[in-house]
Amino acid sequence: MPELPEVETICRGLQLHLEGRRILRVKVIERRLRCLVDRKLAQYLEGKTIVRVGRMAKYILISLSDDVVWVVHLGMSGKLVHIDPEIPRQKHDHILVSLDSGRELRYHDPRRFGLSLVVAVNELHGLPQLKHLGLDPFDNRFTGFHLHSFTKRSERRIRDLLLDQQVVAGIGNIYANEILARVGVRPTTRARRLKRSKIDEIAAMIPEVLDEAIRWCGTSFSDYRDADDKFGEFQNHLRVYDRGGEQCRHCPSPIKRVAIGNRSAFYCPSCQK
Ligand SMILES: [Zn+2]
Repeated sequence: MPELPEVETICRGLQLHLEGRRILRVKVIERRLRCLVDRKLAQYLEGKTIVRVGRMAKYILISLSDDVVWVVHLGMSGKLVHIDPEIPRQKHDHILVSLDSGRELRYHDPRRFGLSLVVAVNELHGLPQLKHLGLDPFDNRFTGFHLHSFTKRSERRIRDLLLDQQVVAGIGNIYANEILARVGVRPTTRARRLKRSKIDEIAAMIPEVLDEAIRWCGTSFSDYRDADDKFGEFQNHLRVYDRGGEQCRHCPSPIKRVAIGNRSAFYCPSCQK
């Protein structure tokens, strides 16, 4: 599932290709995503100029002329790729957008958990999907103090707290595990049992790990590709995630995999106490 670093990587790629371009034609092949794609999507987008590509948590915000925003979420398996229209269409290409540059933007999503909707700029922050999101990890207000306000009374496991989009927006299971590996905390630890100094360390590590992943253009396990349909490379630098049974990169212990809820957690039993 694309997490913040993957979405940020896609946005940076799209910024280069899309900003200043005009949308000529839009073809919706499959409307049945997580929410049904509006029948008027083409009508809303065609003729508009792309002013800016941005991100809010894991949502891609494509700001258009006339003060409208095309909001795209990639769900579990979505891709938004900028390609040569001569490249044959694939199964699961659901939305095709022709640009005045002669290139095409394709939304591809085998599992169809993604989202595509158009709103007026002044309605953006009132969208049900966006209005309850927590702080972005790169927001200056995201600090140990802020994180501690959630952890201090929480009986939840720290891994699960980091996955809560109202606490911090954009982290999924891959990065939650990696962040905790780098501060020596087990994902199964109850949040309120962590010392305040550890919370500060976790809060500082969050943007550091995400930034490192962005520099490697994200993590590609299965579906994720960047805006140019290329693989990310951070999967080669993961310390614990998906490495159950393999040797820790810092000691001889094998990485342990445990089930918490319906998602696995990974840690080194020696390095993470
Ligand atoms: Zn270790």
